[in-house]
Amino acid sequence: MAARQDRTMMTSLPVVVTLLVGLALLVFALLRWRENGWGALVWLAAFLAMSAIRMPHGLRNRANRVVEARKDATEMALLAGIFATMMVLPLLHLATGLFAFADYTLPGWATWIGALLQLPALWLFWRSHADLGRNWSPGLEVRDAHELVTTGIYNRVRHPMYAAIWLAVLGQPLLIHNWIAGALVVPAFAAMWFIRVPNEEAMMRARFGAAWDAYCARAGRLLPRRAS
Ligand code: SAH
Repeated sequence: MAARQDRTMMTSLPVVVTLLVGLALLVFALLRWRENGWGALVWLAAFLAMSAIRMPHGLRNRANRVVEARKDATEMALLAGIFATMMVLPLLHLATGLFAFADYTLPGWATWIGALLQLPALWLFWRSHADLGRNWSPGLEVRDAHELVTTGIYNRVRHPMYAAIWLAVLGQPLLIHNWIAGALVVPAFAAMWFIRVPNEEAMMRARFGAAWDAYCARAGRLLPRRAS
C-alpha cells in the first residue's frame, strides 16, 4: 500500500510541476496580449480547448493495460519535438518574449486564415477522440482488448486526429509570428507524419491483419477516399 502510494506520488510529481509551470506561463502569456497580438490569443484559446478535449481521455485511458508499445529512440525524439514546438516554445515565447529576435510580420488576412483553421482542427480533434475512445493513446501502443475502429470519423479517413493536428500546426505560424515559437512546429510535425505514420500502420497491420488491409482499401490516409 505504502509502496503504491510512493509510486503514485513519484509519477504524479513531474506531471504536477509541468502543469504548474504551464499554468504560470499561460497567465504571463495572457498578460502580454498586447505585445503578442490577437493571433496569439486565438492560439492560446485553441491550445486550451485541445488540452480540455484530450484530458478526460488521457485520464481514463491510463487505466488500460498496454500489451505492445513501440517506444524506440526515434519515437521518443519525435514526441519530444512535438512537445517542444507545439507547447513549450510557444508558451515560453508568449510569456516572456524570449525569441523576439526571430519575429516576422504577416498581413492581417494571414492571421485570419490561421484563426479559421483552428475551427475544423478542434472539431476533428474532438470527434476523433470521441470515436477512438479507449483505443486512443499518445504513444504507439496496443491495449488489451484493443478494437479496430472503422466507424464514425474513421469510416473514410485513417488518421483524422493527425489531420486535426496538421490543421492546428499549419495555423500556428499564422497566429504566432515567430520562426521559433510559430513556424518550427511545421517541420517537427512533418517528421512525425512521415516517420510515425508508417510505423503506426505497420503496428496496426501486425495486430489486425486482413481487417486492417480491408480498412485501408476503403479509407484514405489523410483525406477521404473517393467512392469508386
Ligand atoms: N492515427 C490515428 C490515431 C492517433 S492515436 C489518427 O490520426 O486518428 C495513436 C494510437 O491510436 C495508436 O497507438 C493506435 O494504437 C491507435 N489507433 C490508430 N488507428 C486506430 C484505429 N483505426 N482503431 C483503433 N486504434 C487505432
